[in-house]
Amino acid sequence: MNRQIPELYGSMIFSDKVMRKKLPKDMYKALRKTIENGTHLELDVANSVAVAMKEWAVENGATHYTHWFQPMTGFTAEKHDSFISPSGDGEVIMDFSGKELVKGEPDASSFPSGGLRATFEARGYTAWDPTSPAFIKDGTLYIPTAFCSYSGEALDKKTPLLRSMEALSSEAVKMLKLLGNKTVTRVSTTIGPEQEYFLVDKELYRQRKDLIFCGRTLFGASAPKGQEMEDHYFGALKPKVSAYMHDLDVELWKLGIPAKTKHNEVAPAQHELAPVFDTANVAVDHNQLTMEIMKKVAEKHNLVCLLHEKPFEGINGSGKHNNWSLITNDGVNLLDPGRTPAQNIQFLVFLMAVIKAVDDYADLMRISASSAGNDHRLGGNEAPPAIVSIFLGDELTAVLHSIENDMYFGKQEKVQLDIGAHVLPHFVKDSTDRNRTSPFAFTGNKFEFRMLGSSASVATPNIVLNTAVAEALAQFYQELEGTKPEDMEHAVHELLKRAIRKHKKIIFNGNGYSEEWVKEAESRGLYNLISTPDCLPQFIVEKNVDLFTKHHIFTKDEIFSRYEILLENYVKTILIEARTLSEMLTKDFLPAVSAFAGQTAKNAASKKAFLPTLSMPAEEALVTKLTKTYTDLTDGLTQLADLVREAESIDDMQKEAEFCHTQILSRMEALRLTANAAETLIPDTLLPYPTYDQLLFSL
Ligand code: ADP
Ligand code: MG
Repeated sequence: MNRQIPELYGSMIFSDKVMRKKLPKDMYKALRKTIENGTHLELDVANSVAVAMKEWAVENGATHYTHWFQPMTGFTAEKHDSFISPSGDGEVIMDFSGKELVKGEPDASSFPSGGLRATFEARGYTAWDPTSPAFIKDGTLYIPTAFCSYSGEALDKKTPLLRSMEALSSEAVKMLKLLGNKTVTRVSTTIGPEQEYFLVDKELYRQRKDLIFCGRTLFGASAPKGQEMEDHYFGALKPKVSAYMHDLDVELWKLGIPAKTKHNEVAPAQHELAPVFDTANVAVDHNQLTMEIMKKVAEKHNLVCLLHEKPFEGINGSGKHNNWSLITNDGVNLLDPGRTPAQNIQFLVFLMAVIKAVDDYADLMRISASSAGNDHRLGGNEAPPAIVSIFLGDELTAVLHSIENDMYFGKQEKVQLDIGAHVLPHFVKDSTDRNRTSPFAFTGNKFEFRMLGSSASVATPNIVLNTAVAEALAQFYQELEGTKPEDMEHAVHELLKRAIRKHKKIIFNGNGYSEEWVKEAESRGLYNLISTPDCLPQFIVEKNVDLFTKHHIFTKDEIFSRYEILLENYVKTILIEARTLSEMLTKDFLPAVSAFAGQTAKNAASKKAFLPTLSMPAEEALVTKLTKTYTDLTDGLTQLADLVREAESIDDMQKEAEFCHTQILSRMEALRLTANAAETLIPDTLLPYPTYDQLLFSL
């Protein structure tokens, strides 16, 4: 098996190797040009690629093809068409044309568009993205595509991501040229998303409606043991988990997804997978596929993979770390402090651009990580707080300090710092430090955005980050434009000084979980947008609309439609949770409470009949407690039902979302606490569904 892995790796993708083998030379060259430079693809090339793709797909057992896209549901979508085409004599041939490859018209009128598409002009179209390789899965050829409306509005997550990569590349190249770099013609964003997840037994999962409908438990008393012993983190893999992870790796490798690291995470039953980084567009597609395949492989092992941000109370939830950097087409990582003075300048300018971007658009970064599920994590002392700040580490902070104050780093005296004269230290990630409390940390040669929830599409934060950095670079460019080459070093130094003074408020190397930080952040004027309904209105404020429209990422309509979809999604999620909780408590839990109270009373009565003088304070207390719980839960459920009705009658979606957050969630929380307390009194045999003990410790 092991010897076969290099052969197995990427065997199910239409790779460069396959293209070279299957395509005529000139066609191959034309396609490479499109992939590398984004040039227009002629129809004859498309036709030639289609033939090659179909041939390869059929050889590998495919009968169908699909345009695979990422609508704003956050999931992926696909509709399968077979290759068969009647040849007129009652027979069929396997056929696939360039037109079919390049453009599709799914009847996709039911995807959220936030009002962008009236249903009468429902059809959107899908357009092939040649920069992400096509692949075969379950007998179908998958063609990665962007999804747009007929008037060209983006209806998906890939289109704006590609636009943001373009914007960033063009601003970065302009800046590099200005700084004297003569070789670079393109800059790409690279992403390595670390993915956390839980595994639970499929039989146990099936018994809980909350897991089935909401992806998380809506109540459940804590197991006697949680994560306090820290024995799960990096612990030895249990055979069942290990077998799952192995199968998962193999499935991912076949699709050319470079799954690299796997380990147990902090919470019991929690694990992580990290791939080797790739360009943003491919990494985003790969992460979507990874999430899907994680679930599929789990099925085969009689497991269920939970990607919800907070499946269980009282232990850590799951996130996704977005490692992000910039790479030039000649292979230089722009966030790696280089070995020459010229590279130092590049590094410092790009580093500062990221700091400025995150400071100016911290609200958008926060929004990019917002969802009903992730609200349970952020600020819960297990994940970064909802306040966006940047961790740079002591060394780099000192470098910026010395630039700001015209000092050589390390020395106290004031001297005009000639940034070209010193080679910056290499900022190796300090392993003792690992500041996990920071939402946005510099880790030696990349930034790691840690706010993202485990189920989120990685596209969203990268759209924001790419665009914000493009804007920062554009502003820097304006400040430096027209400077003579011999004055450039001085001009850059002055620019950095100004930028550091303006943006150092976003830098925080301390403990992000502390109460003091919340106060300090407030005094620094940083955003603290606690919940999804709190942060979403920032999406449509002027500065943010200006940002996205200026760089042609979103039109104003697209922004408003996305805002609406996010709100709607939030409201729907909370209402589904409220209804599920209602149903579980009413139909399963209350009867269990009642049954146990009745049983206890009956036993007590028979003991009393046997021995009339017997006093039974414990039984009395228990029956009283259970009866009170029964009443409390019933009352709480009535109130919850009223609140749900009230929410549904609110016309303004923003107000409805706020109502869900402040009223419904807190009512659900109160019910949860009551139910949890009751659960500890009731014997397992009478409980209607598996407990935390079973869910978390049975594998
Ligand atoms: P951690 O200590 O956070 O686990 P690692 O060094 O193991 O850090 O890397 C985590 C992720 O960062 C991996 O997916 C890795 O591929 C990715 N990564 C490394 N370098 C880059 C880069 N230049 N751009 C984007 N991602 C990167
Ligand atoms: Mg990490």
